[in-house]
Amino acid sequence: MSPCQTFIGTLRAQGFRITPQREMIIEAIAHSGDHINAEQVFAQIQARTHSVNIATVYRTLELLVQQGLASRIDLGKECVIYATYQHGSHIHLVCRQCGRVIDADQDLLLALNERLFAGYQFAADLQHISVLGLCNDCKMK
Ligand SMILES: [Zn+2]
Ligand SMILES: [Zn+2]
Repeated sequence: MSPCQTFIGTLRAQGFRITPQREMIIEAIAHSGDHINAEQVFAQIQARTHSVNIATVYRTLELLVQQGLASRIDLGKECVIYATYQHGSHIHLVCRQCGRVIDADQDLLLALNERLFAGYQFAADLQHISVLGLCNDCKMK
């Protein structure tokens, strides 16, 4: 089964109604495999139909996040992106000064994940996150 069908199947099983519009939105993010923002999803769909508005795109992406099927991360400078699990696990270190993005190993999160679970019985979504800060160059200035 393609990831897109898996997502649709999961949402249906949760009792969500999957309209053709929602299906197109889910397809767009599932097939991208990379970071995608709501505007990019919207542009892809606009090429096929004009029956979808941007608000529906946002709502559907948020639904995927809520259901644990996608992550929403903030890459700074008002750039919010979405990605599904196919994008893989990693941390994006985002420099809030110059906007540079450094990819860090997700193993760094394992200890935190374990402690959150042990101390709070909290299963954190730490597979794909962004951390804002200052890169080495900007720190020197
Ligand atoms: Zn990423
Ligand atoms: Zn920087």
